[in-house]
Amino acid sequence: MLRDPSHTTSVRQALSDATQRLGDRIDAEVLLGYALSKPRSWLIAHADDVLSPDHAAAYALLIEQREAGEPIAYITGRRGFWSLDLEVTPATLIPRPETELLVELALERVPVDKACRVLDLGTGSGAIALAIARERPMAEMVAVDASSEALDVARHNARRHHLGNVHFVHGDWFAPLDDYRFDVIVSNPPYIELDDPHLQQGDLRFEPISALVSGRDGLDDIRRIVRDAGLHLVRGGWLLFEHGWQQGDAVRALLRDADFVELSTAHDLEQRDRVSMGRWPIAGTCDSP
Ligand code: GLN
Repeated sequence: MLRDPSHTTSVRQALSDATQRLGDRIDAEVLLGYALSKPRSWLIAHADDVLSPDHAAAYALLIEQREAGEPIAYITGRRGFWSLDLEVTPATLIPRPETELLVELALERVPVDKACRVLDLGTGSGAIALAIARERPMAEMVAVDASSEALDVARHNARRHHLGNVHFVHGDWFAPLDDYRFDVIVSNPPYIELDDPHLQQGDLRFEPISALVSGRDGLDDIRRIVRDAGLHLVRGGWLLFEHGWQQGDAVRALLRDADFVELSTAHDLEQRDRVSMGRWPIAGTCDSP
């Protein structure tokens, strides 16, 4: 237990108690910063300040939530992605640093100086769509999600960051898009296997299962996306998506079978297969490099 809030507790002492309980100094600092509405750097300069009883009680509650396994991002309602501070809720997946690789690869295919249509399938908090929209103000982004709760979060994030070039659409993958075609399609779809033991561990236990799991082999949604993407890409357009590190061979085979060309797989910082891509044949209207 943290000390009885009726006793005086310094910032230093509160952090040291919480670090011991959580086994993680950064988590302890992030949560204290959140309880006090101060940046983490403030805590260092104010280590001898005494916490008010209200703050001490609020902090104790946050530590309990974290001890019960709740992800930091859901407790604070925030997660940084790319250059954006995003709101996240349990209706959305928590944006991962490895997904920034998908943004980088997409940006190589979206010109800076001309209008280009980009689709983000399964946008969740809007992380990928909003990062691309921020870097490519001339791009017309469409972001789809099957969860209207997730779309509310994504819309809110777009407004907070004044990103007006993203249009949010509710629906099941390509279903709401008629025969609209895009220059680039990106996605971080669910790709975890149904019986993957990691689902019972860490943050995954708290995240929306529909954003994580995709059938027995984790590939059900990727199969659908690859199958239908050609109907929604201009000639020469690109499809890029994130997948599990053991799925590289399988997803390239799916892309090949669906007639995509120029296939490749990019590695994350741990040198694991993470993002695969392919091009819809014959050059189109958007000069993708
Ligand atoms: N990258 C996540 C994980 O393995 C999964 C996200 C997803 O299914 N798109 O924890």
